[in-house]
Amino acid sequence: MSFKNILSVLLLILTIKFASGQEEKFHLPDILGYQTLKCDFHMHTVFSDGLVWPTFRVEEAWREGLDAISITDHIEYTPHSSDVPVNHNRPYEIAKSLAEEKDILLIRGAEITRGMPPGHLNVLFIKDASTLVNEDVFEVLKNAGEQGAFIHWNHPGWRAQAPDSTIWWDEHTRLYENGLLHGIEVFNYHSYYPEAIVWAVEKDLTVMANSDVHSTTDYDKMIQSNHRPLTLVFGKSRTEEGIKDALFDQRTIAWLGNTLMGNAAFLESFFFASGDISDVPLSLSKGEVKYIHYKNYTDVDYELELVRGSDSDSFSAPEEFVLKARQYSTPVNRDKGKGKGFLGAGVILQSKKYEGEFNTIMGRYFFI
Ligand SMILES: [Zn+2]
Ligand SMILES: [Zn+2]
Repeated sequence: MSFKNILSVLLLILTIKFASGQEEKFHLPDILGYQTLKCDFHMHTVFSDGLVWPTFRVEEAWREGLDAISITDHIEYTPHSSDVPVNHNRPYEIAKSLAEEKDILLIRGAEITRGMPPGHLNVLFIKDASTLVNEDVFEVLKNAGEQGAFIHWNHPGWRAQAPDSTIWWDEHTRLYENGLLHGIEVFNYHSYYPEAIVWAVEKDLTVMANSDVHSTTDYDKMIQSNHRPLTLVFGKSRTEEGIKDALFDQRTIAWLGNTLMGNAAFLESFFFASGDISDVPLSLSKGEVKYIHYKNYTDVDYELELVRGSDSDSFSAPEEFVLKARQYSTPVNRDKGKGKGFLGAGVILQSKKYEGEFNTIMGRYFFI
């Protein structure tokens, strides 16, 4: 999947709400012949500035039903070093056997931690984190690239490093042009970086959402109401190779709170794979009332807004409707008396041009 042809690729924002009281292992649909894998590629332990032991990250991910994680401790920032010896490979080594036992895919990673530019970048699927110590950040990332790393720019608009505006620097162009920048965090922790989605479209970068958790997801209030930020990866298999292949091929959706962002093809498939629509009334006689039935099989509440088409005067339907998780929903469609109108989910789900601060992006559509 390529973002290259911007006009033909629609980006969608799909606003959803995770069902309250969800089970620990939540259900999301597989799409387009791929498995949907719930991944978090950014977190810390006591081996950098985190507050937990590496095995805790595995337990935490298992409790929350994740498929894959990467522990990405800072290479250049190790404030616990007087108590915990600096060893950039230890977090992975310590967590590995528990990850195998719990069937969590553990991806070896690290966070390259520099001032802006280029800021912080995660290197995933590396083979040896101890080799990433070098003053020259370009050399470090080149080394990671030679190890086969997938490299993504973290929290590009983090206030500490981008106090006024979020900027794509010349250094990022240099990394990008040398094949050393593949993805970008649209969501990190509780934050959203709108510029990242613009650059993802322009430059074919993979969209990511990661927790960057330093304490626990519970303490950081990521899971009380819904879920931690997740990168949904569409893999050919539930393996490390399957994830790597998908990340390099931009097969992801970034999910924070009640918003999903990603390529339209994936978002549309994701929604339509979430349930069954039946009995869609395509026409009404005067004064007639018909119903749509939608069975939502997932643990996602879909918040829909009616988007009116050209013949919209001929019918009425709820302006807003929630397709509840794991429930059978019945939005009513009522004819206003003008005869035919195109009714049904197709109307309710028609996209509208996104308006607001990002309306300069052509072809971006919005579902709520
Ligand atoms: Zn960082
Ligand atoms: Zn971090």
